[in-house]
Amino acid sequence: MQYDLHSHSTASDGSLAPADLVRHAAAQGVHVLALTDHDVTDGLVEAAAAAAEQGIGFVTGVEISTLWQGRLIHIVGLGFDPANTALQQGLAGLREQRQWRAGQMAARLERLGIVDALEGANAYANGQIVSRTHFARHLQAVGQVRTMEEAFKRYLGEGKPAFVGCDWVGLADCVGWITAAGGQAVIAHPGRYQMTLTKLRLMATEFRDVGGIGLEVISGSQRPEDVSTMAELARRLGLRASVGSDYHGPGQAWLQMGRLPPLPKGCEPLWGDWTVALPLQGRP
Ligand code: AMP
Ligand code: MN
Ligand code: MN
Ligand code: MN
Repeated sequence: MQYDLHSHSTASDGSLAPADLVRHAAAQGVHVLALTDHDVTDGLVEAAAAAAEQGIGFVTGVEISTLWQGRLIHIVGLGFDPANTALQQGLAGLREQRQWRAGQMAARLERLGIVDALEGANAYANGQIVSRTHFARHLQAVGQVRTMEEAFKRYLGEGKPAFVGCDWVGLADCVGWITAAGGQAVIAHPGRYQMTLTKLRLMATEFRDVGGIGLEVISGSQRPEDVSTMAELARRLGLRASVGSDYHGPGQAWLQMGRLPPLPKGCEPLWGDWTVALPLQGRP
């Protein structure tokens, strides 16, 4: 069974519409998919319908922007009830932060001589959230940078001149939202945070102690050599292992959908106690 529990659509910063993303996943051989857009669940209804049509399993998902000790950490929520009010209110607050940040980023870019970046980024955003990815696409389209990577290196990455910090949700509150909505919280791409293993272990321990369940052992957003490190970390902390391409659209990840390697031996898969009846909505 191919599980892919981390992916993006045009509801956030992916380039495929939810239904197209699901069709792509099905064509690539994914059996169970989660759509995990940044701070928004608007794509889930369309994606669930497409999954039912394609005969693949579907799990509700979201990728939440959180702060731990001043660092940006992404937490994936899976199998929650999207109608949960506290969760939706929390996500709405994060989207307000995004709107505010977008204006601030555009002002910084303007000071660097790049005008109308907010309009430019918004033209790529689907209306629900505006992401640094949308700014990067705009910067690339107008020839300020050659690649998305360069946009982050020169302007948008942490500490770069157009980077603006946000007061995202704390780890405990984020896990609380997901859990109260009946879902499971998972640390996204742990290999991406440029933390020492000691720091990462501390963060993951706190995450577990507030009710977090899993850690992405296999992710399209971390290096292949991170797999064994994260498998060992998950085992030591009693976290379950999750897998996800972090797919954002054609040609943008080292792991294509439907091509994720199997979990290393000794990992307890996140879905071990899920009873997957295909197709499904949420975690039964
Ligand atoms: P945001 O959530 O708006 O702060 O934007 C973060 C998103 O930017 C991530 O989810 C990635 O999709 C994208 N991103 C971050 N770093 C890079 C990079 N170096 N190259 C391309 N995309 C990136
Ligand atoms: Mn993204
Ligand atoms: Mn992420
Ligand atoms: Mn992601």
